[in-house]
Amino acid sequence: MALACSDVSVRTDGGALGLTRKATSTIGRMAGAVAGPPAGAWRLRPERITVSRMTQELSAMIFDVDGTLAETEDAHRLAFNQAFAEHDLPWSWDLALYKDLLAVSGGKERIRAYVQRFDPARLEPGLDESIAALHKRKTAIYTERVAAGAVPLRPGVSRLIAEAREAGLRLAVATTTSRANVLALIDGATGGEAHDWFEVLACAEDAPLKKPDPQVYRYVLDRMGLPAEACLAVEDSSNGVRAASAAGVPVVVTLSAYTEADDAASALAVFPDLDGVGLSDLRRLHAGRR
Ligand SMILES: [Mg+2]
Repeated sequence: MALACSDVSVRTDGGALGLTRKATSTIGRMAGAVAGPPAGAWRLRPERITVSRMTQELSAMIFDVDGTLAETEDAHRLAFNQAFAEHDLPWSWDLALYKDLLAVSGGKERIRAYVQRFDPARLEPGLDESIAALHKRKTAIYTERVAAGAVPLRPGVSRLIAEAREAGLRLAVATTTSRANVLALIDGATGGEAHDWFEVLACAEDAPLKKPDPQVYRYVLDRMGLPAEACLAVEDSSNGVRAASAAGVPVVVTLSAYTEADDAASALAVFPDLDGVGLSDLRRLHAGRR
């Protein structure tokens, strides 16, 4: 059975994907009193919906991890530096240099690129083995620090998440880092408190294609059974913004130390961090987007 009003078409036979219960009820009221399943059981087919965006209430927030929930890149940088010092190497990567080095994917590859550029005298047989040992130590330092809580959540993150949970919003993580790293970070940063914060933890194992590919966002939407426009993504990088946007998810940006210059033109808003950003601000941005 299909119901129609001026700007919405509602099916009551149960489609594959659903709006939130609240949004569905609103549409039900717009369409008038009808016989059929309770409002909360209705499912709307996205391809049939031309709902004014003002009626698509914010139902869920989807958070990136690295750079968004925490400044993990800096923890990586400091772990590299500690490993260098432990190996009596005269290397120290400052923030500006590390920003450049991030163009090289992979820790071992990054060290080699640095040697080629800044210390070519060390390019000799056996370098690969030395780099492997160095990187292994760096990884151990990083993991240990993260698990011990040395990488805190960024300003405003836990307060905003508490506000969202209190308001009944659903929460998810969309990242392409490994699940083990995500859990170590979240547990370490909150002393285990955040264990049940996120309904869906979408990680590298779930969506292997790196952002800006939208795969990880599509995975989250599928798992939550929500249309993209009922969600709001929080990202720190242009790749993240592109991934969310390609999946149709509105996005705001909280710039991190390593993404300050990133292009976030398609974001609803760009914040230096989430300190002082309230749920009401995000609801307004989400409702007012074009
Ligand atoms: Mg990020």
